Amino acid sequence: MAVAVYYTVPIFVGPVPLRVVVYCAVSASAAVAVWWGVRRNRPEHRAPWVLLGLGQVVYALADTTFYVSHYVLHETRYPSVADVFYIGHYPLVIAGLVVLVRQRRSDRDLPGLLDAASLTVGAGLLSWVFVIGPQTRLGTPLLVEVASLAYPLMDLVVLLVSLRLLFGGGRRDGSFVLLSAWLAAILTADTVYVMQRLDHTYAAGNFLDAIWLTGNLALGACALHPSMGRIAQNVDAPALRLSWPRLTVLCLGALIGPLLLILQHAQGVQRDVPAIAVGCAVLFALTTTRLAGLAVDQRRIAITDGLTGLRSRRYFEARLADDVARAERVGGPLAVVILDVDRFKQINDRFGHPGGDRVLVEVADRLREVAGPEQVLARYGGEEFALITTGADAEQPTRLAERLRHAVAREPIVVSDESSVTVTLSAGTAAFAPHHGSASALVSAADRALYLAKDLGRDRAVAGGTSVAEQREDVAVDYLDQVADLVDLRVASPGRSVAIAEWARTAAERLERDAGEVRTAHRAGRLLDVGMVVLPDDLLTESGPLTDQQWHLLHEHPDSGARMVGVLPDHSEVAEVIRQHHERWDGAGYPNGLRGERIRIEARILSVCDAWAAMRADRPHRRALTHEQAVRELRVGRGARFDPHLVDVFLELLDEHAVGDMVTGPAAPREGTRLS
Ligand code: GH3
Ligand code: MG
Ligand code: MG
Repeated sequence: MAVAVYYTVPIFVGPVPLRVVVYCAVSASAAVAVWWGVRRNRPEHRAPWVLLGLGQVVYALADTTFYVSHYVLHETRYPSVADVFYIGHYPLVIAGLVVLVRQRRSDRDLPGLLDAASLTVGAGLLSWVFVIGPQTRLGTPLLVEVASLAYPLMDLVVLLVSLRLLFGGGRRDGSFVLLSAWLAAILTADTVYVMQRLDHTYAAGNFLDAIWLTGNLALGACALHPSMGRIAQNVDAPALRLSWPRLTVLCLGALIGPLLLILQHAQGVQRDVPAIAVGCAVLFALTTTRLAGLAVDQRRIAITDGLTGLRSRRYFEARLADDVARAERVGGPLAVVILDVDRFKQINDRFGHPGGDRVLVEVADRLREVAGPEQVLARYGGEEFALITTGADAEQPTRLAERLRHAVAREPIVVSDESSVTVTLSAGTAAFAPHHGSASALVSAADRALYLAKDLGRDRAVAGGTSVAEQREDVAVDYLDQVADLVDLRVASPGRSVAIAEWARTAAERLERDAGEVRTAHRAGRLLDVGMVVLPDDLLTESGPLTDQQWHLLHEHPDSGARMVGVLPDHSEVAEVIRQHHERWDGAGYPNGLRGERIRIEARILSVCDAWAAMRADRPHRRALTHEQAVRELRVGRGARFDPHLVDVFLELLDEHAVGDMVTGPAAPREGTRLS
C-alpha cells in the first residue's frame, strides 16, 4: 500500500514535495521499526540491530538529501552529499550482518564461507564485465569514477555476507525471510541503478523506487516480526551434505566464467579474457578447497563413532591390519584389548536406551582418559570397546586392561539426577607374537579370552594365546587336561586331579615356595596320572593282589606321564615332578629310588596330596577311609613314605579346611593367567 500511495500522490501539493515526504517517511520508518522491534522483541544480542538500525538512519538521511536536492533544489550533480551517505551506510549494514552470522553459528563454517565466496566471484565477474570495466573505460572525472565503483564493490561485499548468512543454516523464521527479502531488494535495485547510471537511462522516481521502498518495508517488518528475537539464535548443526539446490546454484555460478568467455568470443572482443581467467582460477581453487573439506568430513565420519566420539570399528580394523604388518616387518610389541560392559542389558532395562547411551558415553570417556591419545581406542560393537596398543603397555596388555577396567568401575556413573550405577567390564587381551597369526587371529584370541572372562563370572581380565604356535600349545594343553579327566573317570574319582592340583598349590603357598614352584606343583598335580591312561581296565579296578607283570606296568606310569607331558613347551619341570611323584622319603619308591630332599619339593607335596585323595575316595573294591583313618595313615607314613614336615603342613591345612575337600569344581584358569 505504501508503494501504491507513493506512486499515486502528486509530487507537489502546494509548496510541499509530498512524494519526497512519503518516500523518506518509508525509509525512516525502517529505522524506527528496528528501534521499536528491539524494545518489543528483546533480542538476546542487540549489537547487530544497533548496527543495522544505524545503517538505516544513514540511509534515510541519504534518501532525504537525494530527493530534496533532486526535486526541491533541482540539483542533479553526481556524486553529491547523498552519495556520501549512501556509500557510508554500507559498512554499517555489512558489520551488522557479520555480527549476525557470527551469532547464528559459533563454528567457523568454512564450507558456507567457501560457497558464498564462489558465488560472489561469479557475481564479481559479471560486475567486472558489465559494470566495473565499462565504468573505468568511460574516462569520467575521478570523483564520479570513485563513486561509481564504490557502489558495485560495496554491493559485492553485501552479497558475500548475505550468501554467508543464507548458507549458514539455522532458523528460517518469518523474520529471517524478511531480512533476506530486504537484502535481495537492495542488491537488485543497486545493480540496476548502477547500470542505468552507466548508460544514462536512470531517471529519479522510476520503477527502482518501488524496489527500494519494498526493501525498506521488509527491513521494518523483519524487525517488528515476533520471531526477530530468535534470529540470532545459535544453531550449530553441522551441514554434512551438500544439498541439491545448493549444488545447483554453485554449478550455475561456476558456469558464469565460461559463458562470459563464449559471449566475448561471439562478439569478437577479448578485453576481459585475463580477468575472466583469473576469476575461473580463483573459483577452481575455492571448489577444490571445498571438495577437500568434504572428503575430510566424510573420512572423519567414517572413522568416528557417532555416540562416543571414539574411533569406529572400521578404523580399528584397518589400523590393526597396518600395525600387524608393521610388527611383522620390524617387530615391536603389539597387543589388543577387547572390553565388554557386564550385564548391559540390565542397564538398558533400568534406565532405558537413552540412559544406556549416557552410560556408554561416560564409559568411553573414562577409557579414553586411561588410554591416552597414542593408543587406538574404538567402539567395537554396541557396548564393546577395543584398543590397540603398541607402546610399553603392549608387553603387559592384561595390566593395561586392569587399569582400563578399574577406571570405569572406580566410581558409579551418574545416569540421571536421582540415579547412578556402577559399571564393570570384562576384558580379553592378546599380545602379538612375530611371524605368527594375523590381525583376525589376534582379535579372535582376545575375543575368546573375553568370553572366558564372562564365563568365569565377569568383572575380570583374561589373557588369550595368540600366535599359531601358542594356539597349538593351547590345544595340546587342553588335550592333556582331558586325558587327566579321563584317568580320573577310569579310577572312578571324577575331579580328583583338579582337587590334587588345588591342594598342592595351597601347600606350596603355605611353604612359601617361589611362584615357579607353586605353578609347577599345581600343574603337575593336574597331570599327575596321565600316564595311567594306557593301563588296562582290570589293573585300575583290580581288587586282589597284583601280579608281577601288573606291578611292572603300574610302576611305569610316572615315566610314561612324564614323557607325555614333557613334549609340551615349558613343561619340562612339570614332567620331572610327575616322574618323581611315587618316590618315597625313605628311598623305597619308584622309578628311581630317590631319597629325602633329592626328591623335588613339588613331588613330595604331591605324594601326600595323592595319597590323601586315594584314601578318601570310594573305589570299586573298597570303601573310602574316614577322615580320622586317613589322618592316621598319613602319620604312619611320616618320615617313611612322606616328608615328615610336609605331613605336618598338610595336617595343619586339613584342620583349617584349606585342603582335603574332594568336592571341587572344574579346573578354572585364574584371573590374568594365560588362556589354557
Ligand atoms: P554380558 O555382556 O555381561 O554377557 O551381558 P550384556 O547384558 O551386556 O549382554 P550383551 O552383550 O548380549 O548385550 C548387549 C546389549 O547392549 C544389547 C543391546 O540392546 C545393548 N546395546 C547395544 N548397542 C547399544 C547402544 O548403542 N545403546 C544402548 N543403550 N544399548 C545398546
Ligand atoms: Mg555386555
Ligand atoms: Mg556385548
